[in-house]
Amino acid sequence: MNVLVINAGSSSLKYQLMNPETGDVSAKGLCERIGIDGRLTHKVGDKKVEKDIAMPTHSEAIAATLAILQDAEHGVIKSVEEIDAVGHRVVHGGMEFSDSCLIDDAAIKAIEKCIPLGPLHNPANLMGIEACRSIMPNTPQVAVFDTAFHMTMPAKAYRYAIPTNYYEDDNIRRYGFHGTSHKYVARRAAALTGKTEFKMVNCHLGNGSSMAAIKDGKCMDTTMGLSPLAGVPMGTRSGDIDACVVQFICNKHNISVDECLNMLNKKSGVLGLSNGLSSDFRDLEAGAADGNEACVLALEKFYYEVAKYVGAYAAALNGIDVLTFTAGVGENGVATRQAVCEYLSFMGVKIDAEKNNVRGKKTLISTPDSKVQVWVIPTNEELMIAQDTAEIVNAAK
Ligand code: ADP
Repeated sequence: MNVLVINAGSSSLKYQLMNPETGDVSAKGLCERIGIDGRLTHKVGDKKVEKDIAMPTHSEAIAATLAILQDAEHGVIKSVEEIDAVGHRVVHGGMEFSDSCLIDDAAIKAIEKCIPLGPLHNPANLMGIEACRSIMPNTPQVAVFDTAFHMTMPAKAYRYAIPTNYYEDDNIRRYGFHGTSHKYVARRAAALTGKTEFKMVNCHLGNGSSMAAIKDGKCMDTTMGLSPLAGVPMGTRSGDIDACVVQFICNKHNISVDECLNMLNKKSGVLGLSNGLSSDFRDLEAGAADGNEACVLALEKFYYEVAKYVGAYAAALNGIDVLTFTAGVGENGVATRQAVCEYLSFMGVKIDAEKNNVRGKKTLISTPDSKVQVWVIPTNEELMIAQDTAEIVNAAK
């Protein structure tokens, strides 16, 4: 089976053509500058081709993607018929979606209904969906939501302690994001440990970071909230913050709430703490090694907050069996894993420094006597999207 995985942003569109059973990617690429001019980067194995192609809208980007996939020189298929299904990443499923779903008119309406919750992403995701539906009307399309995995959270985890009408009338609650990654890692952890009933915390630490408390494969709590701003500090996002900080800054600096939120989303996190030096953990580690105190603080704050949430989730789950690290920093950040696990020694977490010296490879890094198995598990959101898509399309046959 061939699944085309599409991740459409406002001016870009990423694609991968993959086999959901083996995870083999036959081709992948990126359409950029949609609505500006248009540029396609296409990769088959190690071979890369770049082309300037006019992309006034997402339709031309999809058309360019399908054309290059069938190209005599750079293509991997002979006709669009060889694409069995398309899986679309959709950021916000709101309260409408607790699982991936086949896209029909009703699903599109429901995704549109979630636009107020995901105003930046959902319209772009919909453009990708609409473009595919018009160019490939006979190919089944599936929507896979970043929020869906978290819909198993109990009310005590997802409700905010504010008047009920904001939940009932406006759907304001914790939703959580990175759900596709958390689901993928939870499944991999089950396969790797051979367990089905177990409690784990997954640390998805990248430029955006979120953590999830997972019991028997189901999400019980997560750090991001109504939006991805909440939780641990990130590359450029502040993470959790007292709402009064917003009021104070807006009044003191005479800026709007939107401007303040922009600062909290784009200029904060480890970038803000390092005095604007970098949001990249490699730069911060280099800065800290050179004695830059702001970099030291940025890293310490990050380690501290991640460890604090593991502790909180261990309490929420009444203990954990497995701790997993994934995404850019989780998979590559040797120092981050070391520092977070040191905080957790009180609950019997012990890692092997040599085993922890690993980057981007599935590895059990805990010692045999550790009370908690600690794993590095590379995430693969595209594969999870392709697998969900295949499952749903096969079930609908
Ligand atoms: P995104 O949230 O954009 O998907 P990624 O999961 O790709 O982000 O993670 C990107 C982050 O991974 C970068 O900010 C970088 O700091 C971090 N990273 C990549 N390689 C390393 C490394 N060797 N050591 C520490 N951090 C790393």
